[in-house]
Amino acid sequence: MCISQSNKLFRLKPIVFKIALVFLLSITINRDHTATPTPQSPPSSRLSLETMRFDGNLSFENIQHASKDFGNRFHLMPTAVLYPKSISNIAQIINHVFNLGLTSHLTVAARGHGHSLEGQALAPDGVVIDMESYKSPAMTFHAREKHPYVDVSAGELWINILHESLKRGLTPKSWTDYLHLTVGGTLSNAGISGQAFRHGPQINNVYRLQVVTGRGDVVTCSDEQNADLFNAALGGLGQFGIITEARIALEPAPTKVKWIRALYSDFTAFTNDQERLISHSRDAFDYLEGFVVINRTGLLNNWRSSFNPRDPVQAEQFTSDGRILFCLELAKYFNVEDVGEIEREVDSLLMELSYIRSTLFLSEVSYVDFLDRVHVSEMKLRENDLWDVPHPWLNLLVPRSSIHGFAEEVFHNIVKDTSNGPVLIYPVNKSRWKNGTSLVTPDEDVFYLVAFLSSAMPSSVGRDGVDALLARNRRIVKFVSESKLGIKQYLPHYTTTQEWRAHFGDKWEVFLRRKLAYDPLAILAPGQRIFPRAISFHLSIYV
Ligand code: FAD
Repeated sequence: MCISQSNKLFRLKPIVFKIALVFLLSITINRDHTATPTPQSPPSSRLSLETMRFDGNLSFENIQHASKDFGNRFHLMPTAVLYPKSISNIAQIINHVFNLGLTSHLTVAARGHGHSLEGQALAPDGVVIDMESYKSPAMTFHAREKHPYVDVSAGELWINILHESLKRGLTPKSWTDYLHLTVGGTLSNAGISGQAFRHGPQINNVYRLQVVTGRGDVVTCSDEQNADLFNAALGGLGQFGIITEARIALEPAPTKVKWIRALYSDFTAFTNDQERLISHSRDAFDYLEGFVVINRTGLLNNWRSSFNPRDPVQAEQFTSDGRILFCLELAKYFNVEDVGEIEREVDSLLMELSYIRSTLFLSEVSYVDFLDRVHVSEMKLRENDLWDVPHPWLNLLVPRSSIHGFAEEVFHNIVKDTSNGPVLIYPVNKSRWKNGTSLVTPDEDVFYLVAFLSSAMPSSVGRDGVDALLARNRRIVKFVSESKLGIKQYLPHYTTTQEWRAHFGDKWEVFLRRKLAYDPLAILAPGQRIFPRAISFHLSIYV
């Protein structure tokens, strides 16, 4: 392991460092990254890669899948895909590109499960590293520790970690709604789901990482060791290194879950209840989310396939009358022997809430089925050829003080219905989130994740087509930026440096400083469109 090169910059005289920082600032000011950079001579990049000698598989043929992602709107071919056999393959390829220096346009992107939405895992005419095929090290559990953990390859899917952990009676603490994503992919963003109000996002629940920086250095980092790189990589949008290994915190696993849904028509009552439930003195539920229902019929009927109404007669009579509704979704974990106690506890907690009484629906499912619930929807959508469609998603983090203004404008004036995909809305409390990572959140302690998770009908030019849904998203983004409500994008996507600077706010300089330290040629994760590949002779002042 060698961190010496990565730290070289910090040892430079402050004046040199300042010049470099000013320069990086100047090349990124107001730059528009909408157009994808085209290498001057792609064949020569390929030639340079073909001369490499190493034991991994660098393919120039098996590359098609690496040209697209779940968003299904960006299709850009790499020159080659690396299927790494060892960490040294990854270090070697980055070293090679780094040593080509300022004369090459080659970039490198890690690809997890390719479930980005806006081409973030693509490397046009560059090298994509297929992390999912990298299975080293094998999952290693440390179950007897005071704080148990598992060491995994960053290309591992969370669903596999769940299954292996459960064999030992353990489980990771914090999840995403969908588990067929890689560890490296979600840790590069945050990994937010209904457990985040208790445990923080997934980036809070990692003890250690192994990272290959943009200089090709292999570095182990944690809060105690190389903490700056550790914090940089968490939520770092792949900008500072390829995460190759992660140490994930575990806790004893429950076997069962009480899964609860109830509707509100009053937004204030809905958010008051959500906020009360996530407040510190009320760790009563293990999971809390919510979603918006606009102009949808038959919702309660759909629930009946997996939930039971508490009062079937009343539930039958419920009609939405065209109202916008808000659904609170809760889960309580338990083991079978505690079912009586849990039911009493849940009942007494539900009594305190202000949902519409006839709309309370409950279900009891296994812990695995609860966590892997989106996979069931995936299978159904796949059967109908509706999974691999364009996904114009928009994820926002809205401060508590703005949520009412936001809801008033967006749910009443911009979003006309929620039949193209769920609109999630739930609060989290930042006091439980780790400081110092690269993740950007609103300034307030409590903020809401609002996620517009639309699927577009292929070839439709109507309201359910990709253009209409993108136009709707643009209206929301315009409102967000003009209203100055302190809202941040999650899984951010911007096309100009000005927008990225505004996104990072006062974290921008730290982000730049870290970029300069760990990936000074801007080789990594070009699909995020934050930094253009450094190709000018000017940059030689700091490499
Ligand atoms: P990819 O799309 O392959 O990569 C994402 C980015 O990370 C790219 O820039 C890539 O270069 C970089 N990257 C990938 N691997 C590494 C690595 N090892 N080291 C460094 N950089 C790397 N997110 C949530 O927070 N909560 C949710 O509930 C949630 N639900 C989702 C449900 C679905 C159906 C989908 C499609 C996405 C969901 N997401 C959610 C978003 C998801 O977390 C991100 O899109 C994530 O990046 C996907 O992981 P991936 O393995 O597919 O990453």
